[in-house]
Amino acid sequence: MIVGVRADHRCLVVGGGLLGLCAASALAQRGWSVEVLEAGPAIGHACAGSKGDARIFRLGYPEGTYVDMAMRAAERWRRLEEATGRALLVPTGQLSLGDRSSLTAVAAALAAHQVHYEEWSAREARERFPSIACRGPVLFEPSSGVLVADECLRALCDVGRFSVRAGVVVTGIHDDADTARVRTARGEELRADIVVDCAGPAALDLLPGATAAGGAGVPGPSVPQVAYFRAGAAEELPPVFIEWGEDMVYGLPVPGGDRLYKVSHHTPGPLLPSYDPTDTWTVPDDPTLLATLRHAVGRLLPSLDPEPVRTERCVYDNTADTHFVLDRRGNVVVGCGTSGHGFKFGPVLGEMLADLAEGRVPSVDVSRFRLDRPERLRPPQAR
Ligand SMILES: Cc1cc2nc3c(=O)[nH]c(=O)nc-3n(C[C@H](O)[C@H](O)[C@H](O)COP(=O)(O)OP(=O)(O)OC[C@H]3O[C@@H](n4cnc5c(N)ncnc54)[C@H](O)[C@@H]3O)c2cc1C
Repeated sequence: MIVGVRADHRCLVVGGGLLGLCAASALAQRGWSVEVLEAGPAIGHACAGSKGDARIFRLGYPEGTYVDMAMRAAERWRRLEEATGRALLVPTGQLSLGDRSSLTAVAAALAAHQVHYEEWSAREARERFPSIACRGPVLFEPSSGVLVADECLRALCDVGRFSVRAGVVVTGIHDDADTARVRTARGEELRADIVVDCAGPAALDLLPGATAAGGAGVPGPSVPQVAYFRAGAAEELPPVFIEWGEDMVYGLPVPGGDRLYKVSHHTPGPLLPSYDPTDTWTVPDDPTLLATLRHAVGRLLPSLDPEPVRTERCVYDNTADTHFVLDRRGNVVVGCGTSGHGFKFGPVLGEMLADLAEGRVPSVDVSRFRLDRPERLRPPQAR
């Protein structure tokens, strides 16, 4: 089914983070003329959720939808590597530790999708990876690894065939029956057949009828704490790990020769009082969260010096149920709410947004990602 595709196929994408670039790339490959409007000074700027050097790529999720999406994404990242000659997805393997019911759910979802994984005792895990002090049963996913995040953004721009204008703040998006319009802070009014709104934490406020899209109960963006630790010269750099449980601490080796290991927590962290993509980034370290990360390194990662060599804060664009928002209203498509786990899926999310823009039914079921689902606003019962 194709509805709403016009002869001139012009699309404006608001926001040049991972989602905006992936949507722009998918639409440009389908012959659309695409312009990306980015508020920040450059792609991957300090306040963007997509900034930085490394993201976990994992297949292991308790929900089968995400396992399926990650499998599709892996193929597409590999294709992007071939097209650009850039190394994007570095296999390292991944250990899942901690809460046993989560490990069981992840294993069941992987098994249902015929993904190879291994269940190890703590002793087996320590023998294979002495750099992680596992104390309970472990799930090992050999095909997971690390995405070189900043290279991914560059690769998308390399192959893009779309244009990017940085420093353009969009102040509103309007749906005009058969076209859509954006207004910018410079007083411009730009028209297109479709506007794809990927403005991260600002996306819902820009939508036509923003109060209906946002409104009471929408969780705000938050700023988790990130810290980088160094491995001794003779020590092995640990593989990716996730400790399922309350803090959901995780870690990943940073690609490159600096022997750095990135550690953070998947719980959202303190809310950001207000989000402005043109801000100079000044959120200070959170001593309590930093102490949790130091403690986790001391507890789990014996090959690392427990004093961080670098720290940073980064924006999570949250929904209450941690599922994304991928939807269409009139001539406006919206992609946001990636809740700190969207990077790995980038090329698949881009194709889903392009499908929505073209009025096609996306190949992945988007009902979980609807804008009007009540769970987007209410805290989830359990996850
Ligand atoms: C610390 C941290 C660790 C993470 N780790 C992982 C991981 O290991 N694995 C994983 O899969 N995912 C991870 N993620 C999540 C992943 O990085 C995000 O899901 C993804 O990058 C979000 O991309 P985005 O394009 O939606 O948002 P963003 O990158 O924030 O892009 C939105 C863009 O819109 C622009 N914008 C905003 N308002 C306007 C406006 N009014 N006009 C024009 N432009 C505007 C912003 O400047 C920004 O560049 C992590 C995120 C963080 C913060």
